[in-house]
Amino acid sequence: MKKIFTFFILALVLSAPVFSQIKFSDETKKYIEYNDSITVFKNALLIDGKGNAAKQNQTIIIRKGKIDWVGDDAKAMVPKGANIIDLNGKALMPGLVMLHEHMFMAAPSLEYGYYNARQQPVSFPRLYLACGATTIRTAGSVEPYSDISIKRDIDSGKYPGPFIELTAPYLEGKNSLYPQMNELKNPEDAKAFVNYWADQGFTSFKGYNMIDKPTLKAAIDAVHKRNLKISGHLCAVTYREAATMGIDQLEHGFMPSSDFIKDKKENECPEKPDYVLSHINPRSDEARNLIRYLVDKKVIVTSTLAVFEAYNSSQPMPSLEFLSYFSPDNRDLYLKVFAQIKSAVAPTDDDSAYANNIIMEKMFSDMGGLLTVGSDPTGTGGTIAGFGNWRSIELLVEADGFKPLEAIKIATQNGAIALGFDKTIGTIEVGKSADLLIIDGDPSKNISDIRKVLYVFKNGVGFNSKKLFESVKGKVGFN
Ligand SMILES: [Zn+2]
Repeated sequence: MKKIFTFFILALVLSAPVFSQIKFSDETKKYIEYNDSITVFKNALLIDGKGNAAKQNQTIIIRKGKIDWVGDDAKAMVPKGANIIDLNGKALMPGLVMLHEHMFMAAPSLEYGYYNARQQPVSFPRLYLACGATTIRTAGSVEPYSDISIKRDIDSGKYPGPFIELTAPYLEGKNSLYPQMNELKNPEDAKAFVNYWADQGFTSFKGYNMIDKPTLKAAIDAVHKRNLKISGHLCAVTYREAATMGIDQLEHGFMPSSDFIKDKKENECPEKPDYVLSHINPRSDEARNLIRYLVDKKVIVTSTLAVFEAYNSSQPMPSLEFLSYFSPDNRDLYLKVFAQIKSAVAPTDDDSAYANNIIMEKMFSDMGGLLTVGSDPTGTGGTIAGFGNWRSIELLVEADGFKPLEAIKIATQNGAIALGFDKTIGTIEVGKSADLLIIDGDPSKNISDIRKVLYVFKNGVGFNSKKLFESVKGKVGFN
């Protein structure tokens, strides 16, 4: 005879005034405005990130860092003990998911022919979060151990910053212009490199200008074997070749695509490759066929217009407010390069490449391709975290011709899909992480209103955007 024993497990329910398990440091606490177990936003203009029309008079309830309820104010049941925030006249949208970010900016030693990158461990994480980026992918590292430390210190609450999806050091080939990059020797070397950095905790990779086909193929296979993702800013390998080999994503729209170079030698990057797009017809069958091929292969493309605008002769003069964030040496460098670009008497090749690229980005999206967006804070030092993110999204509207709601979707839901995080972030839906922006305006009508972000909620914890910005004034470029 068998006896059946029943065990009762008693669950101990603990109530806590704040929900977050993270022990924020005193430094991080300076920027936290809200950290409640239950927060109710009412009277919001809701922009859901899916491209739907903005809705007035909406209530969003967040509980323990997750979105718990979304609907009309009139139907909302406000839970006891909730912190109620009236958003009359303000918009609520998902946190930005930005796909081409870095923890460094350009500090080129142009007179010596070195393109140098300078790590920004203090200013950049804050600028990303301040502008509303709750998730970023670093899209190529020059100081991998610093990137790991920055992520660790944000996740533990020591410093404020976004969730970081780490990209390993660049997969670069021989004759690189960048002294901080490793030059892969052969396919075996690429495989070992991928496995080494994946073991260190990097979850994405990027092939770079000089990598050749066999080496890139070995890298792609090694990355996919570990269920990770690989993007490319390529030159020696064309977009079509990379898509055939199974690359997941391509950076910078179509600017680096070497597919249109007449008599291109296999596995070689010709001179001045960034502007190869200047002499093509973006609406030709050749261009359309390439776009169709990428869409069919489900290759994702990232738009980074802000960094190209920095080379464009029609770029507007930066505001004094913007310049006040730079350290003095970087501000001088930036203004020097800016003056050089402005002194061009006629539109340059860069301008026509930019014009063709924006047409192709829109075509790619219209033909069913998944377009994402990022700031790429490199260039000549004029594109920086935060401001660059805003500008890259504005340019989706101003240059590419997307509607503001489409641009917001590209910067939220599309980014989440590209990262494989769309079940947890990217839109305002029940069950998702409470990564939300409170905006003092209506970016669904005027995209530049994304600059009016007041609070950035990451996992339900609300950070004060203005305080984060203030904390890095005069520091960008120095650290
Ligand atoms: Zn980049």
